[in-house]
Amino acid sequence: MKLLEERIRKDGIVVDNEILKVDRFLNHQMDINLFVEMGKEWARLFGPENVTKILTIEASGIGIACVAAEQFNCPVIFAKKTKTRNIAGEVYSTEVKSFTHGTVNQVIVSKQFLKPGDKVLLIDDFLANGAALEGLVDLVRQSGAELVGAGIAVEKAFQPGGDRIRSLGVRVESLARVKSMDNEHIEFC
Ligand code: 5GP
Repeated sequence: MKLLEERIRKDGIVVDNEILKVDRFLNHQMDINLFVEMGKEWARLFGPENVTKILTIEASGIGIACVAAEQFNCPVIFAKKTKTRNIAGEVYSTEVKSFTHGTVNQVIVSKQFLKPGDKVLLIDDFLANGAALEGLVDLVRQSGAELVGAGIAVEKAFQPGGDRIRSLGVRVESLARVKSMDNEHIEFC
């Protein structure tokens, strides 16, 4: 998506050749006009699939997921990071290793909100090693709902997550795919 690529070139900051900071427009200060265009693009790609739920993970996926949900006219669920174990069995739960913090989080979704018969679209801001997305895929599989695919804002295609998730048979649509990046230059696929 040209608009997002141009914005990354203009306002993205590359840290240590590995982290792309986009907090001027995506995950700290948020440009809602840009989010609306991103939501329209995911709606164009996944519109025919009759999505009934959008699933994301806290925190930075929530903003884009909410704006996208308006296009799909469906609720957003965000997987919550928690330290409490699932004892009573009322939640689906999985473990996700955070790319940016290096910590492992238990993430949960209440069984009330994901059910067989749902058609679920995953949305997240970044795809790097794929741990966050794999966790969301696992939650959907536990629920018996149908996984329609994943809409990602920025995929760092030089990291293994995209291949990993696609090899699970999941349709991944990334609006910007970064082929390589350093302090001076960002190249898209
Ligand atoms: P993964 O689980 O695919 O390794 O990483 C995905 C998560 O890590 C995303 O939800 C995002 O919050 C964070 N992340 C990964 N790479 C980057 C990056 O280059 N920049 C930012 N801002 N967040 C990232």
